[in-house]
Amino acid sequence: MSRQMGDSHRRFLQTMMANGIIDEQGAKSLYHHCCETHNTQHAPDKLDDFIETINSKLQPLFMQIRKGMSEDNGHQYYALVIMAETEVTRMSLDYADNELELFRKTMDLIVGSENGKASSTDILNISDTLTTKKLKKSETEHLLNRLVHDKWLNEKRGEYTFSTRCIMEMEPYIRTVYQDQVKVCHICHNVAFQCQMCENPLCGIKIHNPCVARYFKGRTEPRCPACDDFWPHEIPEVRQPHSQSRR
Ligand SMILES: [Zn+2]
Ligand SMILES: [Zn+2]
Repeated sequence: MSRQMGDSHRRFLQTMMANGIIDEQGAKSLYHHCCETHNTQHAPDKLDDFIETINSKLQPLFMQIRKGMSEDNGHQYYALVIMAETEVTRMSLDYADNELELFRKTMDLIVGSENGKASSTDILNISDTLTTKKLKKSETEHLLNRLVHDKWLNEKRGEYTFSTRCIMEMEPYIRTVYQDQVKVCHICHNVAFQCQMCENPLCGIKIHNPCVARYFKGRTEPRCPACDDFWPHEIPEVRQPHSQSRR
């Protein structure tokens, strides 16, 4: 296998830089499109090798195209991530100090919650406690819209969660800052925020909602894979990938 980066690789990378994150279907068609445009060989099952070649050139720049799962729908995504453990590297270019402080405090709320969510009411309340410079209610609402637009947060019915991009890009930072507060999914071993938790206080393992759906599919009496206690939560449906989802 060739490790030489060609025009098709460069085109793929440029699109990743412009988008930040792309779902698996999107990545496959982009791979196809790039190979076609530059008349290079295209093998549908070789996307990960193609990306490996790009990553070998990105490594000295502390960047990487990483594959990860959406906590919302369980689909696979590819994101261009910066691998610095320093805080919020890329964001600091786009946001003011008090905006970053509000984002960090929102992260505190999400990580500290049991279900990986923070309500808009709770976030509006902390905008009063900022030490850098307080944000007005309208400014906070505007900022939250921007954070959703820039794909750092997702919003559903007034509740905010980490976006797939945020988790993939911020994982080293989140693990460094929150340490023991962060739990990994018992099934896929990635960090887990939106998830279900075993209610046995001696166990307390977490499982992502899509991983719950896949793991318990077809089992009549769901039991915790770690302690064998009854799993008391509602088991979500397995959701099939479709090419329209972008987040
Ligand atoms: Zn999982
Ligand atoms: Zn358990």
